Amino acid sequence: MTEKTLNYDVAVIGGGIAGEEVAINLANLGYKIILVEKDYSIGGKMIHLSKVFPTLDCAACITTPKVSETARHPNITIYTNSEVKNIEKTSINGFSAELVQHPRFVTDDCTGCQICEDKCPVVVHDEYQFDLVGRKVIFIPFSIANPRIAAIDIENCILCGLCEKVCPADCIDFSQEEIRTSLSIKSVVVATGFQLFDPTLIPRLGFGQYKNIITAMQMERQLVPTRPFNTVLRPKDGKMPDNIAYILCVGSRDETVGNPICSQVCCMYSTKQAQLLMGALPMADVTIYYINIRAFGKGFCEFYQQAIGMGVEFIKGKVGRIEEKENGNLILRYEDIETGKVKESEHDLVVLSVGILSNTDFTSMFKGDLLEQDDFDYVKQPDELCCPAKTSIEGVFVAGTASGPMDIPDSILTAGAASAETASYLRRVNNNNN
Ligand SMILES: Cc1cc2nc3c(=O)[nH]c(=O)nc-3n(C[C@H](O)[C@H](O)[C@H](O)COP(=O)(O)OP(=O)(O)OC[C@H]3O[C@@H](n4cnc5c(N)ncnc54)[C@H](O)[C@@H]3O)c2cc1C
Ligand code: SF4
Ligand code: SF4
Repeated sequence: MTEKTLNYDVAVIGGGIAGEEVAINLANLGYKIILVEKDYSIGGKMIHLSKVFPTLDCAACITTPKVSETARHPNITIYTNSEVKNIEKTSINGFSAELVQHPRFVTDDCTGCQICEDKCPVVVHDEYQFDLVGRKVIFIPFSIANPRIAAIDIENCILCGLCEKVCPADCIDFSQEEIRTSLSIKSVVVATGFQLFDPTLIPRLGFGQYKNIITAMQMERQLVPTRPFNTVLRPKDGKMPDNIAYILCVGSRDETVGNPICSQVCCMYSTKQAQLLMGALPMADVTIYYINIRAFGKGFCEFYQQAIGMGVEFIKGKVGRIEEKENGNLILRYEDIETGKVKESEHDLVVLSVGILSNTDFTSMFKGDLLEQDDFDYVKQPDELCCPAKTSIEGVFVAGTASGPMDIPDSILTAGAASAETASYLRRVNNNNN
């Protein structure tokens, strides 16, 4: 543990769209913010999306200015590849905590030139492209990462030293160790987001077994207008698909996998992707197998109708099993809910619209009073109707999908609520101290 203590008004934990929004709002009011992000870059899930429903605006065009504003704000200090631990109330007006900075093995002098990436001999799965391709062991996470600094995935590194030899900025540092620093803060905002459901937990749907079954996040990456794909291909043989199926509610509204609730975004993101596919592959047929279509938000119903108008087929059907044919096509066995009959259909690419699950990291961040969970393991909102950003600990607030599944507009709205609640709390704390 370093000797110094860092002092901030607010610790925002999580640098997705919700955390960024809270940090910017409070920083604009003059509060000093520490934004702590576990990943190598801020931006959360949104930075990896193609376009957004229901406007079909480019996700990167919305999120990158927000990421830059957060990174450049004089009142916001960002720590990436870091976590906050042992958050504990020290007095009625403050919290102590520990900032844990994990080693990146590359110093901040990195220019992002990627010469090291070319030379590194080891290739592993690229989690930022959702395993569609590989990446090197030393890598810039993705093209619009912020900060644009390389990192070494030390678990897979063979310590050959090639990156060190070629780096023109001399910034490889294998001696880096974890740094623990004391934090003193007045308030905390938890914006740690969500996790994606792992479809291998439903083996009958064939994910991981048949290559031409992908997740919606993998489709997002293929549809992104920037690098590295900008084209949709079947993973197994690189063929352009022409008959694509979507299966909704994979891991959502499903007691058998322990997640009985609706993920709120899958109906609409699948409808969005279907429309984007109609543009990217004009000759392709797209069929969406659904249980119910939940188009409850502003403009969502029109968006759904628009997809039907474009030729997307919606089948009310529950898919029981997927099997692969020799040519890589997939046979779907499903119950046609309208007729009650079991049917089969053939598609050359299947997309699983995987659900949203809670990220339970917040349960291990606190010491003493623990932050309470709701029935579905999200951050509990004890007064959801009147003060939705309040949590079970006074002075700790929640924003975005850390409190439940929601889309980007709602994540931003809840971030607004968390900012207002936090500012009002800080005003009270500061008045008490004067
Ligand atoms: C396939 C798909 C497509 C989608 N398409 C759309 C769309 O078109 N339109 C739309 O409105 N919504 C869409 N969504 C939903 C959208 O992604 C979410 O609403 C949004 O990303 C929520 O933002 P967030 O900041 O709450 O969470 P996240 O994006 O999950 O960000 C949370 C951040 O916290 C960090 N973090 C996690 N744990 C810790 C920790 N312990 N310490 C520090 N940091 C931590 C994470 O690394 C991450 O950066 C889609 C979702 C999916 C899965
Ligand atoms: S030392 Fe590690 S990161 Fe560097 S080139 Fe060799 S394998 Fe890659
Ligand atoms: S570590 Fe060195 S070689 Fe690699 S991107 Fe950074 S500056 Fe370039």
